[in-house]
Order: sequence, then C-alpha cells, then structure tokens
Amino acid sequence: MTLPSIDVTQPLAPATPPAPHSASGEAVETHDLGAVAPPPRPARRWTPKRVVATPAAYDHAHGLRIMALVEARGIEVERLRGNRLTGVRGENDRETYARAKSTMAIVVSPPSRRKLQPIAPSADWRFDLAEGCPAHCQYCYLAGSLSGPPVTRVYADVDDILAGLRDYEGRGTITSRREARRDEGTTFEASCYTDPLALEHLTGSWRRAVEHFGEWDAAVQLRWTTKFDDVDSFVGLAHSRRTRVRLSVNNRPVTTRVEGGTSRLEDRLGALRRLALDGYPVGVTIAPIIAVPDWRTHYGELLDGIAGAVRDVPDLDLTAELITHRFTPGSKEVLLGWYPGTKLEMDEAARTRKHGKFGAVKYVYPPGTMAELRTWFHTELAERLPSCRILYWT
Ligand code: SF4
Repeated sequence: MTLPSIDVTQPLAPATPPAPHSASGEAVETHDLGAVAPPPRPARRWTPKRVVATPAAYDHAHGLRIMALVEARGIEVERLRGNRLTGVRGENDRETYARAKSTMAIVVSPPSRRKLQPIAPSADWRFDLAEGCPAHCQYCYLAGSLSGPPVTRVYADVDDILAGLRDYEGRGTITSRREARRDEGTTFEASCYTDPLALEHLTGSWRRAVEHFGEWDAAVQLRWTTKFDDVDSFVGLAHSRRTRVRLSVNNRPVTTRVEGGTSRLEDRLGALRRLALDGYPVGVTIAPIIAVPDWRTHYGELLDGIAGAVRDVPDLDLTAELITHRFTPGSKEVLLGWYPGTKLEMDEAARTRKHGKFGAVKYVYPPGTMAELRTWFHTELAERLPSCRILYWT
C-alpha cells in the first residue's frame, strides 16, 4: 500500500500566535526544591529514529553542519529526492503520531517564515529556527496549531534567517512600546513552535543565534524558553547579556505526570542556575498554571525551588512570565487523539469561554479562579523572589 506523503517544507503551524500551555492533576507527595545542586546526570538528549534532508538543505552551510552533528551521533541522514516525505502516516492517529514524533527533517524555511510577526506579550518579533518538538506534554500548545503529522523540522538556512533580523531592529511594537520593558530593546522570540534545548545537540542553531546576538552591538534581545537542561554548550559563549533564556517550569504534579520526555524539574532549575552564573539574563516561564488540588502548596514549593536556584547569583537579572491554562476545541481534539488516557482537565463546563484576538474560541479559568491565582502569584513572587520582575500575566 502506498501511504500518503507530506511536504516537509511546509510550515507545521500557521503564522498565528501560539496559545499557552496546560494540564491537571491530583495532590501528590511534596519535595523540597529549595536546595538546587548541579545536574546530577547528563542532560536529556533526543535521538530521532529517522532523519531526512531535502535537496535544498544541502545548499546551506548550516544544513551541512546539522547533518555532520547528526551523523556524528551515529544516525544516518536520508537524502530525499524532493520535498515529499513518505512513510510517516500510520494506520491510525496514534501510529502516525509516534512515527512523526521520532522523525526529524532538515529543510529550508518556507518564505512565509522569513516575514516576521509580532508575538504579544512575549516579544516584538518571533522568528523560527525549527518547528516541532520531540517531547510529549499532554497540554502541548502546538496541538492547537498543527496542520499535519508532528515531524520536527529544523532549518538549514539559519545563517540567512539570523542575517534577516537586522531589518526589524528598532521596529518593535510589543515590548518596545511598554514603558516597563522598553529597556530590553527590540526583542526577538525564538521558541514559539519548538523547544530549543530539545534539539540543540542535533542542530547547534540556538548557539549560533546566541553568538549572533552577542556580536550584534545594538539594543536587541534574543529570547527563548525551554523544558530541557542541556546548557553545556551555552556556558561560556560570548552572549553579551543580549540573550534571555527562560526555563519553563511548573508544579510537581504537572511536571511529573504530563510533561513526558522533558528534563526533570531539578535539572531545569540546575540549568537556570548555571546560565545565571554565566551572566545570562534569565527567567522562568510558569506555564501552564493549573489549579491542581492544593495548588498553593505545590506552587509555593516551586517558587522556593527557583529562589534556591538563583541564590547568591551575582548581578542576577531574573524575570517571570505567568501563563494560565487554556484550551481550544481544536487543541482538545488533537490532544485527546494523541493522549487518549490523559487526566488533563479540559472540561468546557468548568471554564469560561472567550474569544481570542483572531476570533477563535478558547476556554480559560473562570474569573474567580483567575483572580485567586493572579493575586497569589503576584503576592508570593514578591515575598519569595523579591528581585524577580513579572513581565506579564495571561
Ligand atoms: Fe510541546 Fe515540546 Fe513544549 Fe512540551 S516541551 S509543550 S511537547 S513544545
């Protein structure tokens, strides 16, 4: 039987702002995260089962660098004859999901990706060095945007993408227009549709981006967030404090039960400390904030863990971004297809229906819950992490 093919050069997701994260859980045992030691084991690294490259990817120096990194790990790179990839679709959604999630395609970015879009409230502009992620978070925000099997696409034309950013310097309309964030310069978000540290060992792309911004002597900032801890190759880079790395963290029930394939919370906090000690501006993305039973206790432990991770860091520049759980009818359907046994709460009756910026329906916490969460986070962050600046709540 001939299985349908997919065009790996087409974007995985449309150019709309990603909806933030979510999950649900029950009360579990507590842990002391207050004292954070360096990562006790090697960073978690993904090994794809299949790596393919389009012919055009061979025309780019960075594409060849990615291929060399992949082959150095003993993985063969399959050269496609065109842009079509076959053998990904399985007999059912679960099989297709499993095959796609273990496949990486080295491609040239589509032209639509080279025209940057604003990405409120995070940054003035978003740009992409990859799309897709090998992890298995049961709330994954990519689920609402996927238009096909979730093959991870990594871009071969990274050097051109980075060079093209100069056209956007000084033209920001999001953080550049906010009094509280104007000092960040023109901001560029590079993790909208992927997790950088899940792929860095196979691409080297975000390392190049950090170096690019380090050399870019202007009021600009590179931003990305991650649930992985593979920071070895970033410590010691000439970042010139123009990259803010945020670690995406959550309470214990969420990190252990619904964030499959990501790094342990302790390891993420260890990575946060290493980057902060290396002089990077750092941050935490607490997302999705979920009102699990006893959420105050669980999030209190998380905040104490973050405080422990940044304790005594000289010249600490720490921010927090706070994103509550929401889902859309589309993301719920995709997530239930991928994770039929999920315990993630996605009950429309327990939520408030809202319309997003582009008219799409989304379900968020009701106003009472939202106010309780918001008040608690603002109060407790001020108490437990007084030097931390909150960039936004949503
Ligand atoms: Fe989705 Fe990957 Fe982020 Fe998890 S780490 S939410 S799977 S993009």
